[in-house]
Amino acid sequence: MKEVSRRDFLKYCIGSAAALGLNLTVLGKLEQALAAGGNAPPVIWLNGANCTGCTVSLANLFSTQGPTDVADLLVNTIDLAFHPNLMGAAGDLAVAQLKNATEGPFILAVDGGIPTAFGGRTCMLWTEGGREITALEAVKELAPKAAVVLSIGTCASFGGVPAGAPNPTGVQSIGRITGVPTINIPGCPTHPDWVVGTIAQLLAGEFPSLDSDGRPKVYFKRKIHDRCPRKEEDKAKTFGVDVRCLKELGCKGPETKADCYSRLWNSGTNWCIGANAICIGCTEKGFPDEFSRFYKGQGRDDEHEDDDGKKKKRDK
Ligand code: SF4
Ligand code: SF4
Repeated sequence: MKEVSRRDFLKYCIGSAAALGLNLTVLGKLEQALAAGGNAPPVIWLNGANCTGCTVSLANLFSTQGPTDVADLLVNTIDLAFHPNLMGAAGDLAVAQLKNATEGPFILAVDGGIPTAFGGRTCMLWTEGGREITALEAVKELAPKAAVVLSIGTCASFGGVPAGAPNPTGVQSIGRITGVPTINIPGCPTHPDWVVGTIAQLLAGEFPSLDSDGRPKVYFKRKIHDRCPRKEEDKAKTFGVDVRCLKELGCKGPETKADCYSRLWNSGTNWCIGANAICIGCTEKGFPDEFSRFYKGQGRDDEHEDDDGKKKKRDK
């Protein structure tokens, strides 16, 4: 770790304290922890069955203050021992680095669900002494030894898209497959602030308060609908209409907890509903199966109502 990057990280956390959900107590502890130097546990980041979208989302973290981007955050600020997409090392060297990190306390972050069918052989992470190591074997071995396990994204937290019916590879969440309690940071993808804020809190020696689904309450305590700026507006009957509420088009905001309404995405550019797209419930346990059929009437009939309430035939 470089001292200057620790200072920058602290500066970034102070400057973004409200957005990251960090209070003064946590910031004070973080300052002490970073000043002590050398004690932060390394992070081992594994990819299970996923699209790597959560890593890409994290890579969208940009700031004018340190850390300036995800590489700066993970390499210079936190001690990233292993990340298949972001590390420079490869092959035996990368595996040796991972093994070395497990000698002491470490944080395990897993992005993606874990395939269990076919002995887990649909998801291989690395080769060791000529033997292929599955994600199933790796998380079962590492999760019980980790100081904290972070499930990054909905696939790792609850199964998500790869566990969708008929789930041919038998994907399960990290918590379910290992029996180890995990901090779940869902989202498809997850928001970089949710990940950075949680890691900052852990580095400060604080364990985040979690809801009944294991999500940090600071980011997932309210339903999207409760704070949505379109709550009192007329209901839209078709897509592409500015300002109107999207409930009748299948918006899952009333069933979904996350703070996208105030946090926004892509460094504060916009969010799903702001772009006239419904919330599809991507941070919830049942996503995607229990949240599908989000277009009202789709597949059931060929009629829909236009904005004047008149019935119209759908375009074929
Ligand atoms: S657009 Fe969705 S979240 Fe917003 S008020 Fe309507 S139903 Fe609720
Ligand atoms: S608005 Fe809904 S679908 Fe969009 S990112 Fe937030 S929780 Fe996911």
